Amino acid sequence: ALAEVGQAVSSTLDQQTVLTTIVTRAVQISGTEAGVIYEYDEGDQAFHPMAAHGVTEKLIDDTRAAPIQLGESAMGRAALTRAPFQVPDLRDERSIVLAKRRSELVQSGYRSLLAVPLLLEERIMGGLVVWRKEPGEFAEEVVHLLQTFATQSSLAIQNARLFFEIEERGRQLEIASRHKSQFLANMSHELRTPLNAILGYTELILDRIYGEVPEKVTEVLDRVTVSGNHLLGLINNVLDLAKIEAGQLALTLTDYSMKDVVQNVTFAMESLAAEKRLALNVEVSDGLPVGRGDEQRITQVLLNLAGNAIKFCEAGSVGIRVSAENGAFLVAVSDTGPGIAKSEQEEIFGEFHQADSSTSKKKGGTGLGLAIARKFVEMHGGRIWVDSDPGKGSTFWFTLPIRAEQQREGV
Ligand code: ADP
Repeated sequence: ALAEVGQAVSSTLDQQTVLTTIVTRAVQISGTEAGVIYEYDEGDQAFHPMAAHGVTEKLIDDTRAAPIQLGESAMGRAALTRAPFQVPDLRDERSIVLAKRRSELVQSGYRSLLAVPLLLEERIMGGLVVWRKEPGEFAEEVVHLLQTFATQSSLAIQNARLFFEIEERGRQLEIASRHKSQFLANMSHELRTPLNAILGYTELILDRIYGEVPEKVTEVLDRVTVSGNHLLGLINNVLDLAKIEAGQLALTLTDYSMKDVVQNVTFAMESLAAEKRLALNVEVSDGLPVGRGDEQRITQVLLNLAGNAIKFCEAGSVGIRVSAENGAFLVAVSDTGPGIAKSEQEEIFGEFHQADSSTSKKKGGTGLGLAIARKFVEMHGGRIWVDSDPGKGSTFWFTLPIRAEQQREGV
């Protein structure tokens, strides 16, 4: 019976099931007819019935309506003294203060009772009471046995409380995190509006809409444009991430050509690679099937990987390779740059995480690009990872189902 009780305590978090198992077993083994397990509430300093065996509904309802107070009747006394307490004969007039529902119990044929406190390191967790139809003292073994059951019950109650607490904390954290994401989403939107105005007017001035612009001013305005665009990129990243986390970003699925996506990214990256004298090798398998997915987001992922490859690579080449196999596109972006330490290869996909902070600081960036890339790939039902040998370069891989059907929730 103890093994069964131990098993119940460790394998189920359903307090009701565990306590019912315990009280049923306790009654059966102690040679009694009925029993109740109470949970002690420190708030009202009272014992509330949690599980019962062989007890009428009415008795339980009555106890629920008027719970036993600490110090009151056998249960309250046992808890107060932190020791078992028994009433050998309920018919004895002197036991009137020792059983709250003495007359009901006697009427139902009960003659004796034994109350054992449930303790956890001296803290009162509740109580276990058994009622017997036969009068007389309870044997010492029975008292010991019930104490063992009491210990198991305390653990079950403690487990349930801890579990509830963790669940509650989790819920609160989730709400706080949603508020944070919502705030970030609103904030980045508010930041973008004036920034677009700054960039727009700068462009109009540079287009000489407002008249001639001296050479010196043109140079300064070019710098304004570059910095402004950089800031816009950062804000867009924060906005994307916040929207994904707030569950507000949905993919727009259309048919697209993977070849065109790669071509657009190549156009955008050519000059950057040329500036650093890096070869840009692009290989797209012939006859790729028409894909279905969010073309803009897929382009964004590839731009990010290719941008990183060029950013971190100082000499050699950057490659983009695309093929299709097993119903998925397989995309590889490789570089002959510094590579990434094994210990960092998973971490860099986390938000705000940059591998080697000294070089990353030099290169700029926020550590958001890969986190966003991973979300977009996973929303399509694909996977993204990196292979890298420090000193030799890195290859970032991702797969995309050729026909992404529906958006994955919760990634
Ligand atoms: P960011 O580039 O804005 O810092 P990312 O999320 O795109 O953010 O990248 C995170 C980090 O991963 C980078 O800071 C860098 O340390 C590392 N990393 C990414 N791509 C490469 C690469 N091709 N070679 C070496 N390190 C890289």
